Amino acid sequence: MKTIIANWKMNVGVRESVALARGTLLTLRGRKVSPALVICPPFVALSEVRKIVARSSAGLGAQNMFWEQSGAYTGETSPRMLQELGVSHVILGHSERRALFGETDEMVNKKVLQALEQKLVPIICIGESADQRREEQTQQVVRDQLMAALQGVRLKSSDTIMVAYEPLWAIGSGVAATVSDVIETHRFIHLLLGQVFEQAAPGQFSVLYGGSVDAENAYGFLREDEVNGVLVGGASVKINQFKGIVQAAAEVLEAKQTS
Ligand code: PEP
Repeated sequence: MKTIIANWKMNVGVRESVALARGTLLTLRGRKVSPALVICPPFVALSEVRKIVARSSAGLGAQNMFWEQSGAYTGETSPRMLQELGVSHVILGHSERRALFGETDEMVNKKVLQALEQKLVPIICIGESADQRREEQTQQVVRDQLMAALQGVRLKSSDTIMVAYEPLWAIGSGVAATVSDVIETHRFIHLLLGQVFEQAAPGQFSVLYGGSVDAENAYGFLREDEVNGVLVGGASVKINQFKGIVQAAAEVLEAKQTS
């Protein structure tokens, strides 16, 4: 399976989210095979988008959450609240949250543990900066972030974890990583996950690529076995672009079925 995560960030309000959710689901219509879709609208639109997504195979994702269940945490949203809203997935440790809101590896780890506790699928975002890449520290950075995020995680047979490899320099820049770089880093991440979760069943964890994915380059990433899907920001709010990405995933899945 290939999964496409649509991260709408803070780009659409409630009304626009409803329209975009309808348009996004239409991209699946009439297909023999479809990728798995997870739509991540802003918090304020979750309950309206849920009504649309509930009639489809798509999942509903949040873009962040806090790790406590309740209490005096003004402005925060708990894992239980997300579950109550029908949320199935949650993006954690996105680079924008790390860079702009001071999220640390420790905070991401607390969120991952609580997400799993609440039966939400964590989408753990990791990736190196341009400087770290230049200094050939990609694997070290990715390893450190991943190991920190997974500290103390005991994977139950019903748990699923997604890791989004998102090089910081590729996010929103229009410059995606090369397919060969993505394959190399994904192999490394798969290897680490296999070591951490020796008993995991196939499909319990997946590794997605994110960073300037669009209709043009999506096929190149998605056709690779190491790439279990893509996390899409900018192109997920442009319906024609998003349709092209869904089409690319469907072509890959169809080709795999016939081979
Ligand atoms: C993202 O928001 O995680 C992302 C990958 O954004 P973009 O697709 O715009 O680079």
